[in-house]
Amino acid sequence: MRPSILDPLFAAVTTLEGVGPKVAGLFQTLLVRPGETVRVRDLLFHLPTGLIDRRKRAEIATAPEGSIVTLTVRIDRHQAPGRAQRSAPYRVFAQDETGEIALTYFRAQSGWMEKLLPVGETMIVSGKVEWFNGRPSMVHPDFVAPLAEAETLSLVEPIYPMTAGLSGKVLRKAIAQALKRLPTLGEWIEPGVAARQSFSSLTESLKRLHDPADAVDLDPEGAAMRRLAYDEFLASQLALALSRQNMRAVRGRVMRGTGGFSNKLRAALPFRLTEAQETAIAEIAADMAAEDRMLRLLQGDVGAGKTVVALMAMAIAAESGAQSALLAPTEILARQHYDGLSKLCDAAGLSITLLTGRDTGRVRTEKLAALAEGRTDIIIGTHALFQEGVEYRDLGLVIVDEQHRFGVHQRLSLTRKGRASDLLVMTATPIPRTLVLSAFGDMDVSRLSGKPAGRKPITTVAVPMERLGAIVERAGQAIAAGDRIYWVCPLVEESEKSDLMAAEERCRQLREVFGDAVGLVHGRMSGEEKDAAMADFKAGRTRLVVATTVIEVGVDVPDASIIVIEHAERFGLSQLHQLRGRVGRGEKASSCVLLYRAPLGETAAARLAVMRETEDGFRIAEEDLKLRGEGDLLGTQQSGMPFFRIAKMEHHMDLMEIARDDARLVLAKDPELKSERGEALRALLYLFGKDEAVRLLRSG
Ligand code: ADP
Ligand code: MG
Repeated sequence: MRPSILDPLFAAVTTLEGVGPKVAGLFQTLLVRPGETVRVRDLLFHLPTGLIDRRKRAEIATAPEGSIVTLTVRIDRHQAPGRAQRSAPYRVFAQDETGEIALTYFRAQSGWMEKLLPVGETMIVSGKVEWFNGRPSMVHPDFVAPLAEAETLSLVEPIYPMTAGLSGKVLRKAIAQALKRLPTLGEWIEPGVAARQSFSSLTESLKRLHDPADAVDLDPEGAAMRRLAYDEFLASQLALALSRQNMRAVRGRVMRGTGGFSNKLRAALPFRLTEAQETAIAEIAADMAAEDRMLRLLQGDVGAGKTVVALMAMAIAAESGAQSALLAPTEILARQHYDGLSKLCDAAGLSITLLTGRDTGRVRTEKLAALAEGRTDIIIGTHALFQEGVEYRDLGLVIVDEQHRFGVHQRLSLTRKGRASDLLVMTATPIPRTLVLSAFGDMDVSRLSGKPAGRKPITTVAVPMERLGAIVERAGQAIAAGDRIYWVCPLVEESEKSDLMAAEERCRQLREVFGDAVGLVHGRMSGEEKDAAMADFKAGRTRLVVATTVIEVGVDVPDASIIVIEHAERFGLSQLHQLRGRVGRGEKASSCVLLYRAPLGETAAARLAVMRETEDGFRIAEEDLKLRGEGDLLGTQQSGMPFFRIAKMEHHMDLMEIARDDARLVLAKDPELKSERGEALRALLYLFGKDEAVRLLRSG
């Protein structure tokens, strides 16, 4: 049960003055994910990103075009539009010592205007200045007040992220009311951490952020913002630690390999396992043999060889008499795993089955019977494997092959079919260690780093655009020697159209040199046209293909050994890594040419340097994170909501570890969160929407 002290924060936003159904709808869009209900709490955690400081005064004659300024002016005269020209603006002329400015209003009512800006009065007006034909004007000033009154008004105003149709005034008023409703909550941050970080209380921190006195109050690395980021991390780390505690509360099982199946598998493999694979297998075997339940993440690029590691783990389970389930995100991928593994399993004497929605009637009945009776060692399928009616004789190991399609809690529920089953999650996303925590929970990690099996190293060079001629010449030699070349054209920010024009232009120029050997593929082509262009390239009918970034996804031309990326400085690191991965797949030594336009910015230079130094997807992801922040990495950009609403990886990463350690420490001392601090932590979990985690507490 949620402590009643939090009730005011969980009230509907319509309980706030000035918030009706329409504004509530806008808050809904702005503040929460679709399907969630927006509450007063969400306004509190909607933090400003900057501020308007109206304390500094400007003068009319020197006010820069397009800037927001605050002026002290005397109101001179009103000029209402004539009857015949209703759509003309209402102008109020005002002046200071340096000149005259027109305050311009559309659809304004004379009576109202005369009260707002009385002639002869000295007033503060603030807004954007625009110059036209040497005359300054300010359209709909966003702040006007008599000079005398202005002294008592807050002249520093926070700026919030907004949504169309919402006015800043309405939002600020709602947030001010939300702040008043904030009860005094018990402190959940450990006193030592609070002291070291110079955190003040939640209430003080929120007041500072929503009512800043100065720009420094909103510094992401200032104490107030960091306190809130820490609260968010602590809530998420505590929730993860609780689910781990819950999972571990059930004694794990000991599964020790005898080598019976795994030795036969090794003998049947057409290759030697890499060192990284051996290490991962040893880590998994140690977890399985231990009494705690295994909760491990196996990370490795696509093609890194995760499947065979999974197979060895399943062999160990079978050797100790237990069954394994391998769960794929789609039926196609499940079938692919089955096709890849069944021959090896046959050779080792392991019985393996694929169960999909296509299995019906007698076939399905027989498969289910074999599973329930323990005649099947390994079963492969989608999450249908965990539906009602699927019984295991003894499910010891669950392996999930995924691209974060399952949430932490969902994933844990997958192990319920078994008796304290071990869990291994496989992912191809090169998430840095620091983010594994937030994306996957508190799991142990094995990594298959380095290049995917069978990939050759790629020589990467960065070359300024001035040397384009030399690159074209080199391309000509390569074509003559039978090489295949990708030529990726600039990512142009303004529009897809100019992107396309750049590619077409480059294609035309290259055709002047190489004739019909040059093909073109871009995003505006139909699927068939693209396929045809790529088929020409694959078959060698064209030797060089000019492409927009459409080649990023799913193209496999093993013979292509050179990739030229124009305007490489405009691409993100992970995109460059993806693009470069198009070559180095075949027998030939490959190269990647990063063409850039000088001068390079600091970040762009850093990116190109990383690309030259390494081909390791993890290293690149770590560097990408440092250069860019977490949003894109976790693919949360698409969902429109960041992974954390307050914390920013680029500013607050150090706090994550502190929060994790603290969460573990608290639970070790107070596993039921019953102490005074424990109670406060429960409130924190509710505040950050971790209700599910509170339910894991038996006395919840
Ligand atoms: P992942 O699941 O990590 O994307 P796979 O397990 O599908 O990668 O492996 C990709 C390919 O590499 C498969 O054809 C696999 O047989 C092969 N492979 C795996 N390990 C090795 C190895 N040690 N040496 C050579 N090839 C390997
Ligand atoms: Mg795979």
